[in-house]
Amino acid sequence: ATVSILDNDFMKNLELSQIQEIVDCMYPVEYGKDSCIIKEGDVGSLVYVMEDGKVEVTKEGLKLCTMGPGKVFGELAILYNCTRTATVKTLTNVKLWAIDRQCFQTIMMRTGLIKHTEYMEFLKRQGARGDTFFIISKGKVNVNREDLPNGEPVYLRSLGKGDWFGEKALQGYEAENAFFFNLNLADFNIIDTLGVGGFGRVELLKSDENKTFAMKILKKRHIVDTRQQEHIRSEKLIMQEAHSDFIVRLYRTFKDSKYLYMLMEACLGGELWTILRDRGSFEDSTTRFYTACVVEAFAYLHSKGIIYRDLKPENLILDHRGYAKLVDFGFAKKIGFGKKTWTFCGTPEYVAPEIILNKGHDISADYWSLGILMFELLTGSPPFSGPDPMKTYNIILRGIDMIEFPKKITKNAANLIKKLCRDNPCERLGNLKNGVKDIQKHKWFEGFNWEGLKKGTLTPPIVPNVTSPVDTSNFDSFPEDNEDPPPDDNSGWDVDF
Ligand code: ATP
Ligand code: MG
Repeated sequence: ATVSILDNDFMKNLELSQIQEIVDCMYPVEYGKDSCIIKEGDVGSLVYVMEDGKVEVTKEGLKLCTMGPGKVFGELAILYNCTRTATVKTLTNVKLWAIDRQCFQTIMMRTGLIKHTEYMEFLKRQGARGDTFFIISKGKVNVNREDLPNGEPVYLRSLGKGDWFGEKALQGYEAENAFFFNLNLADFNIIDTLGVGGFGRVELLKSDENKTFAMKILKKRHIVDTRQQEHIRSEKLIMQEAHSDFIVRLYRTFKDSKYLYMLMEACLGGELWTILRDRGSFEDSTTRFYTACVVEAFAYLHSKGIIYRDLKPENLILDHRGYAKLVDFGFAKKIGFGKKTWTFCGTPEYVAPEIILNKGHDISADYWSLGILMFELLTGSPPFSGPDPMKTYNIILRGIDMIEFPKKITKNAANLIKKLCRDNPCERLGNLKNGVKDIQKHKWFEGFNWEGLKKGTLTPPIVPNVTSPVDTSNFDSFPEDNEDPPPDDNSGWDVDF
């Protein structure tokens, strides 16, 4: 089995000691002639290595190939819960070795943990809108001020246990919270639909004061059925505490017996994905602006110990000015500093190699995805892309140096993409000792007006046509939803929200 695993495109990326442990945990299985080992569409969690016999692989009734001893199949199942993409039937009696996802992931996590050295990083930028109140429970901090951009910081004073900082920030948001606290669901009228997903829908609403908002409306029953409670809760908590101009604001939430509601700032410029689709690709300077918006959003989230994990053009929307903001925090997670997490998530083309290999990941996975986004915005398609997720993962594991860069990607852009998409997370730009400053000072950003971006004085490359706070013309049209979901009629289920 070791030899077969070393020969497999995915498994050969693991370390020998990990492969040894995996082989030790495999158990033998036997099937008679004409039996079905894997059925297309079923949910599977086992991966197999064939020792003896012959099998046939079919997809939608069509024969794809036959396989003999030494072949590994079902690999996608050990990465995450998924349905089988093909059917495997035996042509003879076969002997196999199997391992399940739980066991595989435990091995990968343990071996990853042993190697992981803890590090701490605490990033607090001057000039960023402070919205956090800190009380020091242990240790000492120095307060510095940078009088000149890029100048030496001036030491002001040091703070110790019991001292606090960031207090100024609290006042503005308190007034805002009070305003939203006094609103009721009945105070809004629905204007139009902005987006629809498996979750429910996002509607544009108008309040009695003629202000408009985006309201994400989720069916409780659907959340319970798809076991999304944890994700939804984390999405709410993270968005609610995120006060950045580069992240869509969540003002407050509501719930009733059938739905959960998230009242957000409405961004009427449309999805970046739609604009990219219509234009094919973006120029260097256009890409630079949107990439910079994401850098600001990431710097903010990462300084709070939050990873985002779902960067892609669909999750960036433009406000009426043309500034890009992150939406959709369903995969975001607060992991703190110097810590890692192991949940497999993201969109295949944007997933970092350490996530695929189950080594544990942290904020550096977001910088990987930033490199992928740059490439996709500049060319119209992401660098690593295969006909199915497993093939995409194998292409990702071969690394960015195997990718040919089209001529329209300039030398400086290519250089930055390669520095973001380093296989080793510790070598990625954004995750070195100077943090995002390394990205901001990269040659590709030379002359870019970061201060203007942060203040909102920089003119965006594409100014969307938004004629009023109720103009939804930058969004596709969606049909009405007539389904009436069941309420949580006290029969034992509800969503903590
Ligand atoms: P899906 O899985 O289908 O993408 P989702 O759970 O990811 O759904 P979101 O991405 O949060 O949901 O929202 C779906 C779409 O609704 C977005 O892609 C965007 O077009 C629109 N949308 C969401 N929030 C806003 C907002 N605040 N302002 C304007 N449009 C929004
Ligand atoms: Mg989305």
